[in-house]
Amino acid sequence: MADTQEAIDIGHIALGELRQASFPAAENWELFRVHFPSEVHAAILKHAVEDEEVELCGVLVGEVCKDEKGPFLTICGAIRGEHASHQAAQVTFTQETWAHIHRELDLLYPDKRIVGWYHTHPGFGAFLSRMDLFIHENFFNLPWQVAFVIDPRSGEEGAFCWKKGKVERMRHYWVGQEERASLEGVTAGAGDLAKKVRDLETGLEAFQNHFRRRLRDLSWSLIAVVIVFGLMLLWLFTLPSVRESGWNRIHFFWSTHQGGSDAGRQDSDQLGRSQSPGG
Ligand SMILES: [Zn+2]
Repeated sequence: MADTQEAIDIGHIALGELRQASFPAAENWELFRVHFPSEVHAAILKHAVEDEEVELCGVLVGEVCKDEKGPFLTICGAIRGEHASHQAAQVTFTQETWAHIHRELDLLYPDKRIVGWYHTHPGFGAFLSRMDLFIHENFFNLPWQVAFVIDPRSGEEGAFCWKKGKVERMRHYWVGQEERASLEGVTAGAGDLAKKVRDLETGLEAFQNHFRRRLRDLSWSLIAVVIVFGLMLLWLFTLPSVRESGWNRIHFFWSTHQGGSDAGRQDSDQLGRSQSPGG
């Protein structure tokens, strides 16, 4: 990737364009969350164990949404990568694979988009190889697109997302209501403390992001209030009638307080006499 290009990052997801929705599970603070409904996750696993000798692949279909905690991915389906070229430790999306995927997408999920891809690593763990990174950089290079890797032999799974131009393993993802650790060892006994520290760090980072966003919103509303108030004042003082009556009032105040108080009383006496009937 060119150095001049802005690094792809989940932090660059434009929130304005996203639909507001509620995240389907209870969760911790995360910068970006990925949710699989149980049946979609089960369908991916079913595909993954069909051949444990070669790598199998497919795409993830869904929607990018947002809630008060930030953006999240809600996956609603998976399309198998038929006609993909399989080798023992490598998978390639061919032209036929893409044609098949787009046909299925139009037919089954016309209002959804490709939010990532999945593939298997039979017997060698959940990570992204150099070839996987090439695929991710070339076909899944939008900030919210993710990779999901399954080792059907060990059962290890990993979710990966864009961070500062690199594809990094996510700490968690959600399957149904269950929060799963994506990092190796985070659920192991010895890793408990490390997990807690990492969770705390992620939580803090997400909270800071949230706070910064709120502060930005607040300062914009403050600027808007000041502008509106200023415009109101300007409008009030440029109205000819208001300006005139304002001057009249100032003039009257001035004349009644500069020895004109007697003259004022005389004026009112005269007015009273002329108005009384018959004199
Ligand atoms: Zn791979």
